[in-house]
Amino acid sequence: MSAGSVKNARPAGRSDVFHRFPRNDMATAAGGEGPYIFDTSGKRYIDGSSGAAVSSLGHGHPRIAEAMKRQIDHITFAHTSFFTSEPAEELASLLTDLAPGDLSKVYFTSGGSESVEAALKLARQYYVEKGETSRHRIISRAQSYHGNTLGALAAGGNLWRREAYTPLLLETIQTPAVYPYREKQDSETDEAYGRRVADELEAAILREGPENVMCFIVETVAGATIGTVPPPPGYFARIREICDKYGVLLILDEVMCGMGRTGTLFAFEQENIAADIVTLAKGLGAGYASIGATITTTKIYDTIVSGSGFFQHGHTYTGHPLACATALEAQKLIAEEDLLSNVRKQAANLEAALQSRFGQHPNVGDIRGRGLFQSLEFVSDRESKAPLDPSLKFASKLKAAGLAEGLLCYPMGGVIDGRSGDHAMLAPPFIVNESHIEEIVDKLDRAIDAALGAARQ
Ligand code: PMP
Repeated sequence: MSAGSVKNARPAGRSDVFHRFPRNDMATAAGGEGPYIFDTSGKRYIDGSSGAAVSSLGHGHPRIAEAMKRQIDHITFAHTSFFTSEPAEELASLLTDLAPGDLSKVYFTSGGSESVEAALKLARQYYVEKGETSRHRIISRAQSYHGNTLGALAAGGNLWRREAYTPLLLETIQTPAVYPYREKQDSETDEAYGRRVADELEAAILREGPENVMCFIVETVAGATIGTVPPPPGYFARIREICDKYGVLLILDEVMCGMGRTGTLFAFEQENIAADIVTLAKGLGAGYASIGATITTTKIYDTIVSGSGFFQHGHTYTGHPLACATALEAQKLIAEEDLLSNVRKQAANLEAALQSRFGQHPNVGDIRGRGLFQSLEFVSDRESKAPLDPSLKFASKLKAAGLAEGLLCYPMGGVIDGRSGDHAMLAPPFIVNESHIEEIVDKLDRAIDAALGAARQ
């Protein structure tokens, strides 16, 4: 192609990209530095949500750029049916060294949905190799989200996302969401509530017949769908006990909550339990590379290798050397700069700032989360906890008002059966300081006022 035939810059207003949520006024990202993104008009946005809990190191980090350049000078792609690569090996060792329990093998993917697909197939193949071929049922929680590919979508309980595709989806089983704000009874302690919802898993396994159940997939700290909900005390200990009792694999989906977001590298470190399979993405490459991972135990790996000898799965880009080198540098940086201490410190600042600013706000019913992974749930009435009328489309108004203020927060609509409200997630990069937190909360405050004003019109 001659230089003359290359298209010039696109005319204003034209977009040939298939945008998921088409909008005429979508800004074009042009650059980034630390917790800020700049658009082509020069407007600056503070990334209060790290996109969707992705950019944990902020934007434009020079060390990541250097690591990427170094890897490009060596090799960017070598198909994994022929080669392994140093970055993939090193990243896998870093993850298995730091993961709790006996998680010893890492299968690389290109993102969260792929990590979940791999986890489900790994679970199924494990039981096939063991001769327990009737085990195929997936149990998850209501109002959960595990990805948008068909297997991952089937595994999740988000009715809004599933609706159009229902005939294409595997039949799966959902136990109740962990959602203390709306589901815990006043008379119940946190522990009793945790026990009650965990026991629903046992009831579901018994209904299905344990010999048919393959896995329970669950986010350690729920992030997608109902907004950052930490588990009640004792919940996961009981879940682990039930899974062990019936030989059901426990898959912890840490695509969103993992890689330091909650103050420890793996969110489940704070639950003192072991996992059979853990899925990662988002923070693994910190937005600098499209990479995910599915980590599993020696027992599962060995069962597959000593059976068929290979995992009946695979994608072209698994273990992509450039993606692995990028994620490796991101994770080394988090460790070397002790950024998890900053996550814990700034999380305390963020929680305090949210409580003092919105703790008595007439339209904020709940403030919840763990680490730099916090949400506000909006209501029309704090007493009755009645959600805002869905026809107000408050979440999309809040997103627009945030953008107008120069803030990325991550609002989501209250979509499910009228029992959950609109909410907004804050998940700033791990590099933020006190003044960034203040800027985020100030801008959020003004955006909420503007969005409520627009909703009342
Ligand atoms: N699992 C969880 C818990 C998620 O939050 C997401 C993404 N929001 C996914 C899986 C899917 O990840 P991806 O969008 O990278 O496919």
